Amino acid sequence: MKRCLVTGGAGFIGSHLTERLLELGHAVVVLDNLSTGGRQNLARVEGHPNFQFQQGSITDPVLLSELVPGIDVIYHMAAAVGVKLVADNPVRTIETNIYPTEVLLRLAVQGRQKFFLASTSEVYGKNPKERWTEEDDLQFGPTTRPRWAYGCSKAIDEFLGLAYHRKFNLGVVVGRFFNVVGPRQVGNYGMVIPRFVDQALDGGPVVVYDDGEQVRCFAHVREVVDSIIRLMELPAAEGQVFNIGSDEPVSIKQLADEVIRRVDPKVTKKFVPYNVAYSADFEDVRRRVPDVSRLEKTIGSKPTTPLGAILDDIIAWKRAARSK
Ligand code: UDP
Repeated sequence: MKRCLVTGGAGFIGSHLTERLLELGHAVVVLDNLSTGGRQNLARVEGHPNFQFQQGSITDPVLLSELVPGIDVIYHMAAAVGVKLVADNPVRTIETNIYPTEVLLRLAVQGRQKFFLASTSEVYGKNPKERWTEEDDLQFGPTTRPRWAYGCSKAIDEFLGLAYHRKFNLGVVVGRFFNVVGPRQVGNYGMVIPRFVDQALDGGPVVVYDDGEQVRCFAHVREVVDSIIRLMELPAAEGQVFNIGSDEPVSIKQLADEVIRRVDPKVTKKFVPYNVAYSADFEDVRRRVPDVSRLEKTIGSKPTTPLGAILDDIIAWKRAARSK
């Protein structure tokens, strides 16, 4: 049994990770300020003898220094996430994403904790390659466009994590998530699937930005969480960066059609330009497809749940949540 600290454990991915760690027999302390996450995400584990919830902010260094001693593994999942939130709150993004990571890494050097650093495919920026491998260049837009603050801030986190690995031999593993989706994800911060499902359940239209030809790969959170835990069990993963996600591309227009077909074929699509959906200076990433061969070679598997099965899961969850 390992004692785990999950920062951001009340969030979408963090809560699934917490559940799985408890199922595997580990003990979990969740630290979350309930800003974008919520206590309801942890409903299934409330009262579990090995579960503890600490409400507080990762920007509070005293709280971090109280929580970290006695922990074996840190899963640093807390961050300002979502392109919309980040575009609306650039100061909060930068301050939440960088300084707390540094404080946690310093504490981990003292306590010798293993450290999972949650990063994002946003770090590749708008690299035009068909498939991104972990050694590819990061290509951000100008600093006058706040969107890039997200990827840039997580790239600094990665530099920090890898530097602590090199200098102090800390067991740091970096995971770059690619469009992780599933039950409990909410659409408030711009995420496309919960938005499309809600819009379709409300009778439409489903609002597709631009021409809908932009491409993403969607991975089920359950498989992402299993990949993270497996990576943390393998000493060979330390000091490395891993793309974590599905490698099956789908256009946003196709995604809208799949949602509509499942919820109600009478629902229509509406196309809205980026400058109306976001702000005038918004830049989207047109194509985002990972090469996940490093992950597959290391843990022996990769996320493969087909989009249809993922959507079925999300639609069933949304319907159940609405009927409560
Ligand atoms: N998108 C959309 N309608 C929405 C929300 C998003 O068409 O209501 C598009 C968005 O422009 C992007 C894609 O869906 O091209 C994925 O958006 P999301 O914010 O989920 O993820 P990210 O942009 O971080 O990949």
